[in-house]
Amino acid sequence: MNAVLGVTLQGIQALRVEVEVEITGGLFVISVVGLPDASVREARERVRAALRSLGISVKGRVAVNLAPADSPKEGALLDLPIAVGIAHSMGEIHVTRPSLFMGELALDGRVRRVRGAVPAAILARDMGLPLFVPAGNAREVSLVKGIEAYKVEHIRGLFEHLRGSAMLQAIEPSEESVEYPEPDPDLSDIKGQAAAKRALEIAAAGHHNVLLTGSPGSGKTLLARSLKDILPPLSDDEMMEVLMVRSTVGLSLDSSRRRPFRAIHHTASTISVCGGGTNLRPGEISLAHRGVLFLDEFTEFRRDLLESLRQPLEDGCISVSRASGSVTYPARVLLVAACNPCQCGYLGDPVEPCRCSPSAVDRYRRKMSGPILDRVDLYVTVPRLTPEELVQAEGQEGEGSPEVLKRVIRARERQWERWGPLGFQCNAELPEKALKKQVGINAEGRRFLKEMAGRVRLSGRGISRVMKVARTIADLAGDVDISTVHLAEALAFREGGDLPWNR
Ligand SMILES: [Zn+2]
Repeated sequence: MNAVLGVTLQGIQALRVEVEVEITGGLFVISVVGLPDASVREARERVRAALRSLGISVKGRVAVNLAPADSPKEGALLDLPIAVGIAHSMGEIHVTRPSLFMGELALDGRVRRVRGAVPAAILARDMGLPLFVPAGNAREVSLVKGIEAYKVEHIRGLFEHLRGSAMLQAIEPSEESVEYPEPDPDLSDIKGQAAAKRALEIAAAGHHNVLLTGSPGSGKTLLARSLKDILPPLSDDEMMEVLMVRSTVGLSLDSSRRRPFRAIHHTASTISVCGGGTNLRPGEISLAHRGVLFLDEFTEFRRDLLESLRQPLEDGCISVSRASGSVTYPARVLLVAACNPCQCGYLGDPVEPCRCSPSAVDRYRRKMSGPILDRVDLYVTVPRLTPEELVQAEGQEGEGSPEVLKRVIRARERQWERWGPLGFQCNAELPEKALKKQVGINAEGRRFLKEMAGRVRLSGRGISRVMKVARTIADLAGDVDISTVHLAEALAFREGGDLPWNR
């Protein structure tokens, strides 16, 4: 193995890049093999100028080989290892111990923050190699335990360190904040909306996707945001995944175990939602990985964008194609969609009259059965409170998020125990086979479901959804078998169950 190593990103993983340099006499030229042309040109200028700032003038034919040549690389984070490789080859410094270097160089030799430091730190840990990163990346690197890492402000400091004349500052592992952040908002901050809060509790417990339907001002966004705080805190592995995605995008990190919440607008581009672009990076759906993805004004979303979310909702990951192949980013999200009940927004509202014609209401209804909604288990109506209800709710504190979270965690534990041996974790993931044989429904419940399926015209898929949701309701209650009471509650959240046109 060559001693000078850099990294490149593949998805959210860092791959090792070996930097080999050969310098021969002749006219000055730097050629880099294994990088796309545009980044080579830029990297070449930055590296040469940064070395010149140290009084090192590069002469002759410099051939830089980045291996493996076939994996796509982004230029900027390879500046530092290329500069180190050239200086090493010129005898200016000696890298005796294999080390990972990453960073973009400014023309004056300062080292700039780059994307992907957390994946690089994990690679360094797994390979047992020291890692040299820009000072701007030190904080995120400190979140990865068990590594030897140094922060580099300027290439001069790095060269002094490698020559043994002055030591760089090592990055100390950061203490994890033990405090879990306050729920924002807390369920008790939201007035009324008992049915919607209950639906969120069920969603959190069984990982069921939700559609909230309600007039403007009914609090759909607040409700959606409250969901992240009634989900179990991130586990160690999940937290590392979340950090890797954020680091790959270049976002700041915190060490809290709160699950991500990402809202996307219907005008968002496919690249910003799904990932991709010239500087390949994950999209919003990956930033919501292990957390909540919120689609407000759901009926306004372009059909192609919704179609592209369908597969990740099923698989928990998203593939992004590019010229040199495709990369996969994680995308396991809990989906909350929200929309108005009709075009004007006030169908079924207690105060404001709906101004839509019957045919307009019908057209709108059809928009609510597009792609993605077949992945939704819970349909909830969120009515605006009447002035009287608002007055009544004043001063009445509902149950807070921490209490609900406790029930959710217990329900999750019951699911892990039951489904873990079968290879999945949550009731929402229940395959048909398990649904038929192992869901645990009693005889009376079975009779009730059969009768109701005929009465409210449930499709086969509708029956499956009701059974999964009922399983979660039973788990929240700590009941072994699904019985009529759980099924009756689940039926209230069925597709179109409580929408104004069905009342
Ligand atoms: Zn209307």
